[in-house]
Amino acid sequence: MNSTTADVVVIGAGIAGASAAAAVAQTRKVIVLEREAFPGMHSTGRSAALFSEIYGSGPIRALSRASREFLYSPPEGFADAPIVRPRGALHIASAVQMAKLDAFCALPDVAPAIRRLTAAEARVQCPVLREDYVAGAVVETGSADVDVDVLHQGWLRQLKARGGELVVNAEVVRLFRQGAGWRVETPDAQIDAKVVINAAGAWADVIAQLAGVRTVGLQPNRRTALIVSAPDGSNSDEWPMVIDIDEQFYFRPDAGALLLSPGDETPTEPCDAQPEEWDIATAIDRVQTATTLEIHRVRRSWAGLRSFVPDRSPVVGYAPDAPGFFWLAGQGGYGIQTAPAMGKLACALALGEPTPDDLVRFGVMTHDLRPDRFAER
Ligand SMILES: Cc1cc2nc3c(=O)[nH]c(=O)nc-3n(C[C@H](O)[C@H](O)[C@H](O)COP(=O)(O)OP(=O)(O)OC[C@H]3O[C@@H](n4cnc5c(N)ncnc54)[C@H](O)[C@@H]3O)c2cc1C
Repeated sequence: MNSTTADVVVIGAGIAGASAAAAVAQTRKVIVLEREAFPGMHSTGRSAALFSEIYGSGPIRALSRASREFLYSPPEGFADAPIVRPRGALHIASAVQMAKLDAFCALPDVAPAIRRLTAAEARVQCPVLREDYVAGAVVETGSADVDVDVLHQGWLRQLKARGGELVVNAEVVRLFRQGAGWRVETPDAQIDAKVVINAAGAWADVIAQLAGVRTVGLQPNRRTALIVSAPDGSNSDEWPMVIDIDEQFYFRPDAGALLLSPGDETPTEPCDAQPEEWDIATAIDRVQTATTLEIHRVRRSWAGLRSFVPDRSPVVGYAPDAPGFFWLAGQGGYGIQTAPAMGKLACALALGEPTPDDLVRFGVMTHDLRPDRFAER
């Protein structure tokens, strides 16, 4: 068995592990262990790739605001293609949902980012919306499509350039305290490190159990997505992303086609999630109810896991019950758009530094994300 040492071992090479590892590698020796043959095989490679500053809980919205600059103007040499492409996000409401839309618009950090639209104005933006369905809408103009692969690969390249190492086909199977740090074992290697960053996505509680650390109550939920043809002759590439205010469905242009989701959240064990016929049919039914789209064929479908703790905000920081065990989990449905801020924050906290000032300015409060908020469970 191969035996080595590192300052920091990161478990999981999805967007969370990659962003944190690249940041930590500036000053520490980092090894990232990924169970799969390539990083991005789980949630990171299966997202709807939206950046929206008004999506998710208050702490998520702060992390998203703090991530904007990196996504729109990444550091020189980070990516050879743009990471984001601006696309409005149109949140729509039927007559019975108007109170929900009003409450959403009244949130103090949502209000400055949106413009209220009449139903007729919403149909100008997306002409397939049914006149007898949409009663009102708001549009977020600062939202965007994210090229997740460009972003993810940028951090993996940065990790390598800074002397960090990514090992694939390296499932962590054992993890225990050794001296002042941790011993991390895969079937082929053992690594001794001062710090372990748990960025294992849906498996983060499984990793905690392996380590004998108290879990945070992470619940993976399956979400389905499908690709269907756009109507012939439509200018669908110019449409905004359309999101039901209760997130019962959404759709958006995707490379000449349309991506649909029923907004499902089916609790499941951590796994290689697969789409269910029922969820695909539900997405089609809900989108056809709200629009004049006629969907006859599904070109492709997939499912992925969005993993939440009960308050639906991420968990970032050292475990209260295990020195050197660092949580970076619970990103739910927002792990792509928050990754720049989350990687920076995780790096600072893991190295014992204060929350970076620029994150504080955007309202990121470490207190909201602390793992010990679950201590009394
Ligand atoms: C359908 C769908 C739509 C979404 N839409 C959006 C969106 O529009 N915007 C947005 O910001 N987010 C979105 N998300 C959420 C986003 O994809 C996730 O929050 C994000 O990818 C989580 O990243 P991660 O690195 O934590 O997890 P993952 O990408 O799952 O990475 C975790 C990694 O840990 C590895 N691992 C697990 N156990 C071990 C072990 N024992 N040893 C070694 N490695 C291990 C896994 O193999 C995996 O590669 C969406 C998700 C889904 C499913």
